[in-house]
Amino acid sequence: MTFDLAADLEKRRQQHRFREPLVMDGPCGRVARLAGRDYLNFCSNDYLGLANDPEVVAAFQQAAGSWGVGSGASHLVCGHQRPHQDLEEALAAHTGRERALLFSTGYMANLGVMSALLGKSDAVFEDRLNHASLLDGGLLSGARFRRFAHNDPTALERLLQRSDARRKLAVVDGVFSMDGDEAPLAALANVCEANDAWLMVDDAHGIGVLDEQGRGSLFSQGVNDRVQVLMGTLGKGQGTGGAFVAGSHELIETLIQFARTFIYTTAMPAAVAAATLTSLKKSQQEHWRREKLAELVTRFRAGASELGYTLMDSQTPIQPILIGSDADAMALSAALREKGFLITAIRPPTVPEGEARLRVTLSAAHERADVDALLAALDEVGCRTSDA
Ligand SMILES: *Cc1c(COP(=O)(O)O)cnc(C)c1O
Repeated sequence: MTFDLAADLEKRRQQHRFREPLVMDGPCGRVARLAGRDYLNFCSNDYLGLANDPEVVAAFQQAAGSWGVGSGASHLVCGHQRPHQDLEEALAAHTGRERALLFSTGYMANLGVMSALLGKSDAVFEDRLNHASLLDGGLLSGARFRRFAHNDPTALERLLQRSDARRKLAVVDGVFSMDGDEAPLAALANVCEANDAWLMVDDAHGIGVLDEQGRGSLFSQGVNDRVQVLMGTLGKGQGTGGAFVAGSHELIETLIQFARTFIYTTAMPAAVAAATLTSLKKSQQEHWRREKLAELVTRFRAGASELGYTLMDSQTPIQPILIGSDADAMALSAALREKGFLITAIRPPTVPEGEARLRVTLSAAHERADVDALLAALDEVGCRTSDA
C-alpha cells in the first residue's frame, strides 16, 4: 500500500515520540484544569500572565461588541479595521521603527517576510537552533540555504565571506525557544555590516519580557538601529495572538506588496487587535510583571541546580531541564504530572537527538510558593541528568 500511515504512526509511538494535544478545561494561567484536576502550569508561553487578564479580556469583549467577531476579508480587501491600524501604529512606536505590519501568526510572518525579501539569486543564513518557522521560511523562499553553529558569529562570517549572493539575510531567534539563551546580537550585527548582509531577529520570546519597557532583545542588547527586520509574536508575552513585523517604511511597503502570507489570508479579528492594544499598554507600564519574573527565574535556577539538575545557559523565563533520552523525559514529565505539575516533555525533532528536555517556563502569574512547590516535587522525583 502506498499510504501506509499506520506503520509510520506505530514507529512514532515506538520511539516515544507520539504527540497528542491535552484537552484543557480552563483558560491559560497559573493553574491548568485538565481531566477534572488542577495542575500548576509550568509550560505556557504566557510569561507576563496577560492571557486571561481581566482588563485584556474586557477590551476583547468590548471590541467584539463594536466590531463583531470576524474581520470578513484580507487586509488589502476590506478586513483592515481601525483597531488593526491603531495596533500597527502602537507597535511601530513601541519598537522604535517607522512602521509595523500585522500577521495572523508568527509562523506566517516568518514565511511571508523571507519569501518577500529573498529569491533564487539570494542566500539565507540561519542559526542551527532557529525556530521551525524560520527554517521553513528560508527553504520556501527558494534562496540558497545555509545553517551556522549555534550563537557563533565567526561561523556566520565564514559563510557570508564565501557567498556571492545578490542579497544576504542572516536570521536568528532573539531568545531561543527551546533553550532560553539569547543571540549575541551586537556581534552578529558586526559581522553582517562587514559583509553587506541584513540581520533579521525573531523575538517571539523577547517581546514583552526583555528590556525595562518590554521592548525585547534589540533594546536589552542596544542594537535596535542595527537590525533591519524585527519579527515579534503576540501570543506569548503579550498574551493574545498573532504577530507583527517592524522596520523601515520601505520594508513594510515591500511586505504589503509581496508577502503572500499577508496578502492571501483573512485579517485577524479586530477584537484580538483591540485586546492586544490593552495588553501592550499593560506590558509597558506594569513593570512588576518583569520584576517578579526575574525573581522567580533566579529562585528556580538556584533551587534546581542545588538539586543537581542540568539547567541551560538561560536568564529568561524559559528554563529547560536537560534530560537526554526521550523515555526519561517522558517519565519525569509523568511523575511531575502525578504530583500536580503540568510540564510537557520536548523531544526530537523539536530539539536535537539525545537532548530531550522538560521545558519549564515561568510566568508573572506564578507565586514564589509555586516555584518552591515545583522544586520540592523535583527533589522527590529524583535527579536525572543528561548522562544518567
Ligand atoms: C512561537 C514561535 C513562532 C510562531 O509564532 P506563532 O504566532 O505561534 O505562530 C515563531 N518563532 C518563534 C521563535 C516562536 O517561538
